[in-house]
Amino acid sequence: MSGHRDELTSLFESAPDLMFTESPTGRMTRVNLAFERITGYSRAQAVEKSFLDLVVPEQKQQVEQILQDLKDGALPRAYALTINTESSGRVVLQVLLQLVAANGSLPLIQGFAHDVTDRRLTSTEIQLLEKTTELARFSRYLQFLHRLSTTNYGSLQELFGDYLGTGCEIFDVSRGVLTQWNEDGFTVRAAHDVAGGHPDGNGVDFFSARVAKTKKTFTCARTLEEQDTECPYAFYIGTPILVNDQVYGTIGFWAGQDAPLTPLHPQAKEVIELMAKSIAIAINQRSLTDQLAHQATHDALTGLPNRLLLKERLDAALQQAEVGSSQVAVVFIDLDRFKQINDTLGHSIGDRLLQQIAERLNDEVGRGDTLARMGGDEFTAILTGFENAESAVQQVRDLLVAVRKPCRVEAYELFITASMGVSFYPQDGRDAALLLRNADSAMYTAKNSGKNDFRCFSAEGIAAALEKLELENLLRRALENKELHIYHQPQVDRGGNLAGLEVLLAWDHPKLGRISPSRFIPIAEESGMILPIGSWVLNQACQQAADWQKAGYAPIQIAVNVSALQFGQANFVATVAVALAATGLDAKYLELELTESLVMRDVEQSSRRMSELRSLGVRIAIDDFGTGYSSLSYLRRLPADTLKIDQSFLHEIEVGYGRSQLFETIVTLAHNMGLRVTAEGVENAEQLELARQAGCDLVQGHLFGGPLSVSAVESMMARASELVDRIDR
Ligand code: C2E
Ligand code: MG
Ligand code: MG
Repeated sequence: MSGHRDELTSLFESAPDLMFTESPTGRMTRVNLAFERITGYSRAQAVEKSFLDLVVPEQKQQVEQILQDLKDGALPRAYALTINTESSGRVVLQVLLQLVAANGSLPLIQGFAHDVTDRRLTSTEIQLLEKTTELARFSRYLQFLHRLSTTNYGSLQELFGDYLGTGCEIFDVSRGVLTQWNEDGFTVRAAHDVAGGHPDGNGVDFFSARVAKTKKTFTCARTLEEQDTECPYAFYIGTPILVNDQVYGTIGFWAGQDAPLTPLHPQAKEVIELMAKSIAIAINQRSLTDQLAHQATHDALTGLPNRLLLKERLDAALQQAEVGSSQVAVVFIDLDRFKQINDTLGHSIGDRLLQQIAERLNDEVGRGDTLARMGGDEFTAILTGFENAESAVQQVRDLLVAVRKPCRVEAYELFITASMGVSFYPQDGRDAALLLRNADSAMYTAKNSGKNDFRCFSAEGIAAALEKLELENLLRRALENKELHIYHQPQVDRGGNLAGLEVLLAWDHPKLGRISPSRFIPIAEESGMILPIGSWVLNQACQQAADWQKAGYAPIQIAVNVSALQFGQANFVATVAVALAATGLDAKYLELELTESLVMRDVEQSSRRMSELRSLGVRIAIDDFGTGYSSLSYLRRLPADTLKIDQSFLHEIEVGYGRSQLFETIVTLAHNMGLRVTAEGVENAEQLELARQAGCDLVQGHLFGGPLSVSAVESMMARASELVDRIDR
């Protein structure tokens, strides 16, 4: 019996293959010499362990499953298992495990293993091994690289997520995180936790900071016995993501303290560095495409979306509005007389002004809505989320106010206004193109009816735009066809005497009849035709006044309206001097009317030119005062002679008591500044009374006659006394 046992023992000990037995309590009870040779563990060390302790972590579960299957009655068979050895790293064994019943108690495990590390394996065996060793992890990485080169990630975020997920598999850990760094520290851009939690804590800040600072890959892998003092984790690997040699951020993977031992594969460092490189390339490419996309869709000067992006946003807004059956407003914005600023002050000032206006408009439009620059001095806003058309219109009013505030550019204080046109989805059009076209046409209507205002699109809008085009064509021929005529409106002093005549232009078209200047002057200004027309009026008016004097009428002052474009001409003063010289009219009988909004646009420049004109001996009147937004204090800086208070002032007085007080205050202040005051639009006795009480020096209005023909004026001058009668009545 003992001889038999000795024989068996000797067989057990000298067998070239590894053999062991293990008790149900999970301790190896016997190991043979081959076990000691292959694993490097002494018999004494081995009996402290279970065979399972030797199996690499990724296969532990498999071994447990094998044992369970055996308990359930499965037939023993050989498996390829990798174990960690004490002496020579990982060794691949072909292992056969079986259970041996031991007289009634729990079965012993017997194991027989053959070292196949150096053996040439059959292809099926290789496949088997690949599945079960870390080769599999790296083949997983190869697959990943392949996927990377063929995947079109929708976003960096998607790419980050994929890298982290794959990294966890490759390094066989549960957590990965990608951080982005700047001066303030890091932000977690993406994180992966196999368990579904959110990885944070030391793993993120401590290691990530270290990696970001040193710009080097950092690894730590704790062996079973030793606890790395620097690394509270079983495993950590992290590397910086360098974009153009700058630390963009870090990527790192780790397994918690309680995780099973994970060895550091010799290639792990290379793998993670490769990962970081391809992430850097992706970031670089993304920022390049982002930049290109931004350039293609934004305006370089203002940074606002351009026409292209506007169209896209509008389409999206319309789609949403259709679903939610809500409204969308399209606002076409065009600055008034911006060209003049560009031409007189230069493009760099013009550009700066555009930037300021763009910023203001953008603030006013607000988040969620779009303001785009269409080019030049044109902007378009898309408004959504308003309750009703009225609140959208209020927003448009706010846009107008925002533009109107003075702009400071270098030494200049600039005043600019805008004209705006609004179209609404769905009533003014169901697609982007039509809505834009209709907002544009509404904007033109606003321009033609005096600028610095807005109009909503309507069928009338189209008619007006068409009419405007037609009028423009007709006006081109009006001067040469002698269809333009001047009329004179009387101005009467406090004593009821005829004190002056305002020259008013009219257009008598053979078919259309008389066309009022308020309809065609804006068109003439916009097309530049006002220049020849204006100088014709000036000459004609001076000639008429001189003719009357020659004919023996008492000399009377004439007032001629001057448009902004004329006034802005460098040779305007010379033009006036020539007209006076050519007709022989004494300069003191000529008054030039400049509108308030014209002179306020650039107070410094205006006052210079006004002084030049006054040095010729002509008088200057500020026309339509009270319609603009200038303060009375500005008046002080202007070398003017007359202030003409706009007719709307007198007409609105009945509405409120405060207004008549304001009227009186303006007159008093103007008098203090040495200005003569004319009240415009006196239509009835009541208004005349108000004007007189306020202290106006001259009155003008239908009460004394509208625009009169030459012969009507002549008979009026002959019967001047009639006016006195009317005043005393
Ligand atoms: P404005 O210089 O303020 O001229 C006064 C306007 O008010 C004239 O209109 C006149 O007919 C009108 N008006 C006068 N009294 C009354 C009144 O009691 N009640 C009412 N409701 N209206 C009254 P008009 O002739 O249509 O001229 C409109 C504007 O066209 C003028 O306003 C002026 O700015 C411009 N304009 C007229 N002639 C010329 C011109 O030769 N050159 C330039 N550049 N502009 C001109
Ligand atoms: Mg006038
Ligand atoms: Mg006026």
